[in-house]
Amino acid sequence: MRLEDRQVLAAIVSLGVERQADVSLSGYTSLCIGGTTDLLRIKNHDSIPGLLQLLDDHKIPHKFLGGGSNLLVGDGKLPWIVLQLVRPEPDVVLKGKLAHVDAAADLGRTVTFCAKHDLGGMEGLIGVPGTVGGALRMNAGAYGMQIGSYVREVKLYRAATRKIETLRGDQISFEYRHTSFAPDDMMLAVTLELPSKSYQEILQGIRICNEKRRASQPLGQKSAGCIFKNPPGASAGRMIDELGLKGLSVGDARVSDRHANFFVNAGKASAKDMLALIADVRDRVEKAYRVKLENEVIVWHE
Ligand SMILES: Cc1cc2nc3c(=O)[nH]c(=O)nc-3n(C[C@H](O)[C@H](O)[C@H](O)COP(=O)(O)OP(=O)(O)OC[C@H]3O[C@@H](n4cnc5c(N)ncnc54)[C@H](O)[C@@H]3O)c2cc1C
Repeated sequence: MRLEDRQVLAAIVSLGVERQADVSLSGYTSLCIGGTTDLLRIKNHDSIPGLLQLLDDHKIPHKFLGGGSNLLVGDGKLPWIVLQLVRPEPDVVLKGKLAHVDAAADLGRTVTFCAKHDLGGMEGLIGVPGTVGGALRMNAGAYGMQIGSYVREVKLYRAATRKIETLRGDQISFEYRHTSFAPDDMMLAVTLELPSKSYQEILQGIRICNEKRRASQPLGQKSAGCIFKNPPGASAGRMIDELGLKGLSVGDARVSDRHANFFVNAGKASAKDMLALIADVRDRVEKAYRVKLENEVIVWHE
C-alpha cells in the first residue's frame, strides 16, 4: 500500500515518524518472502497514539513488524502498511534484578547483555531471532522456558483505550506461543525480573542450548522457525517426519531435511508456494493422525 494523501504524509512527518516508500518485505523477514508496502519507522513512543489515530481516521490498515523472524508475508503489492519501532540507545537498562528493555531490542543480545551482568533464566532464548517485542507478543520460548515467566510489567499502546499504558505481568496471560494482548496492542517496552546466576553458569546453559539447536535445526537456511505449533502431548515435527515428508517441496518452498517442522525457502520461494506447502502438509497430517496442526508462523496474507 502506498501512502499518497499529502495531508497524511505531512502529519506523519510532523509526528517525527520516518516513512520508507514501497519497501520489499522480503528484505525484512527471515524467510526472505514478502511483497511491497510503505514502512513507517517510529523513533519516539509518544508519537504512537497520534500516529494510530491518524491511521484510523484515514482508514489505513497496518501491521506491527518486529524482526520478521516468525512471519510469512504475502506476495505482490500488499494492502496494508507496516509499523516498526526504531531501536533506541541504550535499549537495555539494568537495576538490580530488573532489566528494562525496549521492545525494539534484539532478543539474543538482550540475553547476553543480561548474562554478562549475572542475570540468567533466559538461556533457552539464545538462538531465537527477532526483537524483544516480537518475543513478548509470541511468548517465545524453547527448551522448557518462555519469556512470559520473567515479565514484571509491559509498557504498551493499548488499542482498547488508545493510550500508552503499563500492565503488570500478572494481568497478562502467557501461554504456549500465545498471549492475552489484543491484536492491535503494540508492545513498547518490558521490565523483566531475572534470577541472579554467575556468568559462567549462564554461559554453560547457553552453550548447551546452542549445541541442541545446531544439531537439530537448519540454521544456515531461510526459515521462520517452526511452522506449526506442537499439538498437546505431541510433536508436529515428529508427525511430519514419520510421514516421510522431509524434502517435500512446492516450488522453492521445502520441508527441511534437518527438522521437519522447519520449512525453508530454498531459493526464490513465493508466499503462494509456502502456503501451498503448509496446506499440503497440514492435510496429510490430518488424514494420517486426525490432528489439525495450527500455525505457529504468523501469516500476513491479506
Ligand atoms: C531459526 C529460527 C529459530 C526459531 N526458534 C524459535 C524458538 O526456539 N522458540 C520460539 O518461540 N520462536 C522461535 N522462532 C520464531 C521467532 O524467532 C520468534 O517467534 C520471535 O520471538 C519473533 O520475534 P520478531 O521480532 O521477529 O517478530 P515478528 O516475526 O516481526 O512478528 C511476530 C508477531 O509479533 C508481532 N509483533 C512484533 N513486534 C511487535 C510489537 N512491538 N508490538 C506488537 N506486536 C508485535 C507481529 O505483528 C507478529 O504478529 C525461530 C525463528 C527462526 C527463524
